This record gives sequence, C-alpha cells and structure tokens, in this order.
Amino acid sequence: MMTPFYHFKGTRDAIRPLDRIDHIREASKDFQKTMLAKPKVRFYKSMELIRVPYPAKYGYLNAFTLPTPFIHLCNKLFVIQFDSAEGLKTLLVSPSDWEYQRETPFFAQLDQSAGPFSNQMEKLIVKGTNTVLGALQQLGLRPEDIDYITYDHLHTQNVTRWLGGKGQVALFPNAKLLVMREEWESTLSLLPWQNQWYCPDGTLGIDASRIELLDDSVFLGDGSVALMRTKGHTEGNHSIVAHTDQGLLVTSENGVSMDSYAPLHSKIAGIANYAKRTQSEIIINGNTLECGNEQYLSMIQEKSVAGPWPKDERFFNMALSSESDGYWLFPATKPTVRMGELEFGQITLPNRLTGQGVMK
Ligand SMILES: [Zn+2]
Repeated sequence: MMTPFYHFKGTRDAIRPLDRIDHIREASKDFQKTMLAKPKVRFYKSMELIRVPYPAKYGYLNAFTLPTPFIHLCNKLFVIQFDSAEGLKTLLVSPSDWEYQRETPFFAQLDQSAGPFSNQMEKLIVKGTNTVLGALQQLGLRPEDIDYITYDHLHTQNVTRWLGGKGQVALFPNAKLLVMREEWESTLSLLPWQNQWYCPDGTLGIDASRIELLDDSVFLGDGSVALMRTKGHTEGNHSIVAHTDQGLLVTSENGVSMDSYAPLHSKIAGIANYAKRTQSEIIINGNTLECGNEQYLSMIQEKSVAGPWPKDERFFNMALSSESDGYWLFPATKPTVRMGELEFGQITLPNRLTGQGVMK
C-alpha cells in the first residue's frame, strides 16, 4: 500500500543554508514530474468543520503589524479516495474531533482568560459548522468505510474516539492512523514548550495495530497521494500531496493562509512589507517554533511542489488544513485570496450487499 520516495533525501545537508533552498527547489521539480505522471485520486473533497480564534502573532510570525489579537482559522476535513493494489481506499485528512479536544492547554487557557464571559465569547468567536461524522453522513460514507486517517501534525488532536482509546470502542473499526514516527513519539513525551498544544490523553491507549509509523515520505496506493515529510511546525510534521484535476494540492499547517506562501502579494497589514524588508519568501505559522529554519525550508518545499495556483498564478496551490478567513471581530485579517472548499472526481460508496463499490 505504501512506497517510500527519496527525492528530498540529502537536500538539507548543505552547510550553507541558502544552498539547501537550491537543492530543495531542484528536488521539488523532479518530484512534481514523478507525481504528475502517476494517476489522479478518484475523489477529493475538503469540508469546513469549525472556525476558531488563533493568535495573529503566531499565525504570521513577526510580520503582522496590527493590534488585532486573533485571526480566524477554519479547520477543514479532506475526504480522499484513491486506488491501490488492494482496491479503493478512503482516507480522511485532518479529521479534527473538535468536540473532544478542548482539554488542550492552549484552549483551556483561552476559556479561562475570558472569565465569566467565556460562554458568550465562545459563541461569538468559535463557529462550528460540521463534525467529522456529520460530514461523512452527508457524503453517504459510514465509519467502517474509512481505511486511513492522517493529520499533518497532532496539535490539539484527540484521536481516541476514532481509533479506540482506553476502554473506548473505536468509532472507525477499520481505520489506521498514518503518522511520522517522530510525531507519534513526541506526543508521548513532550517538553513543556510543546505540551501547550497537544491534547493530553489525545493519543493514549490506542492499540498498536491501529498505528502505522512512517520513517520516510511515502506514496499511498497508486501514487495519487503522497505523505511528504515537512519538518518544521512540529518535528514530525508531514504534508499531504494529492494529484487532482487542479494539479498537486498540498496540505499542512506550516502556514495559515495562501498569503503565507506568497507574502509579497499579501494585502494583510505588514506582511508584504516584512517580506520586502527581509526577503522572506514565506511567513511561518510559529506558535511553538519547534524547528524554525526547517519550517522555512519546508514551506519552500511545499510551494515548489504545489506550483502556481491556476486561478491566480502569483499564489500557490496550497489547500491548508487550517485556512484563515476574515471575521468582523478581527479587523484587517482577511487573507488576500482563499482556496476555500474544493471537490474533484466522484465518490464511490461501498456496496453494502455485494461488497463492491458503486459510483454515486
Ligand atoms: Zn499546530
């Protein structure tokens, strides 16, 4: 089901950091060629789950110049179907179980700092549109249809309901978590610096047979999906690359908007100026700064693999898992452009009677 690829091996070994960028760009071209020669995914759909406030000072590290404390982040779920030697597979990217991730210290703190207004504030700035189970139902998928789940990183995630934690029955009886080994090991042993962002017990008690630990970047199935290591936002961060009718779409949270990958063209206060002044090609999402330089390089890698956005070639084909949007309470934070929701191909619903797939 999985084939490792090594296009980026050694690209970060040069002693001179700028040389690493050249090597990454070269390797990206080669990788793009390889992947575009492979089949496309059978189905791809992104669906909004919830909008949450997120400190602007982290979202656009060092670049945002207004006092607006928050930006609005829109968490998305991606439902992807692809062919493999073992038949059609259904993958969920970033299925955030937001009803169960409130114990993440950062969110708990946010609640507390609002004091008696906590409830009202929450109603005003947290906008739940959908849940993972609701989204699946809309598509006609059942929990048992899910073969794999993956997250670009595990900040705030609680996967125990999906995979079965201590004393819990797994809601997705057949799903396996695809995760980089570093990310998984991190969640089991966090520095205080990191633990503000992970949901305590979010990964505890899950049976080892449900977890597929990855040591390398891999193609999934027929190669229409790739999980590409992009260390930075977290040590074990990876990006999801999907081959669609819109080219290669790249998903992660190394950046929070399409502006983050093309800052010179951004209309958000301060961003373009910062990019001009510093020559920075990207703006990192820097809440934990686990690996800042690596994150810079990873974002160059992501945008090089994604290539230009067909609708406006100044921007890149980034389908971010948490894409910022404007909100009246957070003035002047609206991104210049947004990827929004996407859908390609046709969903296949497993035929409950014969066990064979039927097109919807
Ligand atoms: Zn994060």
